[in-house]
Amino acid sequence: MNPFWSPVVGQLAPYTPGEQPRIAGLIKLNTNELPYGPAPGVVAAIRAAALDGLNLYPDPQSSALCDALARYHGVSRDCVFVGNGSDEVLAHTFAALLKHEEPLLFPDVTYSFYPTYCRLFGITHEVVPVNSALCVDVGDYARRAGAIVMPNPNAPTGRAIGLAEVERLLTMHPNAPVVMDEAYVDFGAQTAIPLIARHPNLLIVRTMSKSRGLAGLRVGYALGQPHLIDALRRVKDSFNSYPLDRMAQAGAIASLEDEGYFQHCRQTIITSRENLTQGLEALGFHVLPSRANFVFAQHPDHDAALLALALRETKILVRHFSTPRVEAFLRITVGDAQQVKMLLGALEVILAGLRPRPSKSARPGSSLPPVT
Ligand code: PMP
Repeated sequence: MNPFWSPVVGQLAPYTPGEQPRIAGLIKLNTNELPYGPAPGVVAAIRAAALDGLNLYPDPQSSALCDALARYHGVSRDCVFVGNGSDEVLAHTFAALLKHEEPLLFPDVTYSFYPTYCRLFGITHEVVPVNSALCVDVGDYARRAGAIVMPNPNAPTGRAIGLAEVERLLTMHPNAPVVMDEAYVDFGAQTAIPLIARHPNLLIVRTMSKSRGLAGLRVGYALGQPHLIDALRRVKDSFNSYPLDRMAQAGAIASLEDEGYFQHCRQTIITSRENLTQGLEALGFHVLPSRANFVFAQHPDHDAALLALALRETKILVRHFSTPRVEAFLRITVGDAQQVKMLLGALEVILAGLRPRPSKSARPGSSLPPVT
């Protein structure tokens, strides 16, 4: 180990984000961004903020943004916490709420940043296998737990659980924090926000990176009862007092003010997702039912890693994870209508030029049961 490093650094297993190359003509379907820009008022608000007081530190508590989020979601101001992207909000959540004597539970197939945070903060965790349809089965969480975290809809599967299931989880573990990561909820899943008032153990983490087309601005937030928000604030103010700059605060507020644009974008993506799913199925893929702005698809005759490489050569990026249970799948972000058309066209050409794998038993991921 490098003698200059703190001991924890050698133990880390850093998260690998999807690549962000700047290549002309690239169709980028690998990191679940929105194919559209933010609401028109956002850029104007960012510009105005940049011209007004950049020499001064921003509001450390992002009060105006917290007020706007409280109004938007119908919760009180002390139920809101904001951070530099939901990854930062999650990091503070892991540090503030998820380290206990009993293990933290999360699904085996889920957002791969969770185990990274566990290593960083020294949190003992246990993974709970998703069922054979790659769905979270809440009944499987009836075991000792210091805390629970999961995305809903889950990533990278896109599968969601309903509000009644979330409530079952909350009542199953009334003394354990339960964190629902709602990064993709706006694309058709049920939010757990109505449960906040009666469940002191519920924290919801959200992002403006996906449904609001603001991945480049880095704004995430959490909603929960004040005692949980207070814990996050204590960690934040022990780490970075000013996580959101002036432009981020102003841009995020402007986004919340344009409900029409937001609804239009998410409806368009939902429609595009149905077209993408049908197109993939017509090419022989099995596609999991998705409530997110991506689909998780498996071709019975072709290796997913090879398909991702072949797509890359046509300047289309999708995501492939070489991890157990999901290595046979591609995660494909739902693009706009033109991107969906280009992707399906490229896949048709690629599949026509590939010979199917000789035997089912030789396939990676072939132990996976049929997708339902
Ligand atoms: N949660 C999940 C499930 C995600 O997929 C992502 C995006 N990688 C995030 C949180 C973080 O998003 P951001 O930091 O852009 O808010």
